[in-house]
Amino acid sequence: MIEIKNVTKTYDGKPALINVNLSLQTGKIIGLLGPNGSGKTTLIKILNGLLRDYKGEVLIDGNPVNEISKSLVSYLPDRNYLPNWTNAEGAIKIFKDLYQDFDEEKMRSLFAKLNLDPKQPLKKMSKGMKEKFQLALVMSRNAKIYILDEPIGGVDPAARELILKTILENYAPESLVLISTHLIADIEQIFDSVVFLKEGQVVLFEDVDTIRQTQGKSIEEYFKEVFRC
Ligand code: ADP
Ligand code: MG
Repeated sequence: MIEIKNVTKTYDGKPALINVNLSLQTGKIIGLLGPNGSGKTTLIKILNGLLRDYKGEVLIDGNPVNEISKSLVSYLPDRNYLPNWTNAEGAIKIFKDLYQDFDEEKMRSLFAKLNLDPKQPLKKMSKGMKEKFQLALVMSRNAKIYILDEPIGGVDPAARELILKTILENYAPESLVLISTHLIADIEQIFDSVVFLKEGQVVLFEDVDTIRQTQGKSIEEYFKEVFRC
């Protein structure tokens, strides 16, 4: 579903991704794991067409990154991109215009489940509320691929479970879910496989069951071992 071939990206001569090769299959939840600065957001921006100046090739369901590929991917960026004055009603209009696969009813019910007020504009929301708002929109698409950049980064531990539940209960069946995070312990139970990204390079891509069996450790423990400073 996602093919990444020999992707290298530099910012002002400094490498952020070095010869990344990945083939991600549909029907899986994949963790893109690495400490801050390891290149997770850079890779995700390339998959979503926000960075075009890179070497290598990316194919999304056989398409280069273009309008078709973008219509297949429901993307949660690492920061809010909607206008500050938008509330749920405004966001629903925007998403209905942009995406044929957007399910308005689902959005309304997710808003209620996440205890959000549909009339409240983003500028009056806390960071955690804004994250829930964006997540509700993104999970209300019946997409082939969901790419979520640090979905639990800004919410307190109590809200993390609700966010994970929202992801698990709402992704379209048989789709591919790619989730970046540096908070492994809170989320590792939902992954089928994980990619470890270290200083821009893929150092591991493996099923979580295989890691737990061969290493005898949780993903977080193994992550700490691989990334020990
Ligand atoms: P992560 O999402 O894993 O924290 P990023 O992809 O954001 O990592 O960053 C990878 C590296 O690229 C870091 O060294 C970061 O400083 C650098 N970087 C990211 N964005 C830019 C940018 N717009 N300009 C220059 N350097 C950048
Ligand atoms: Mg990031």
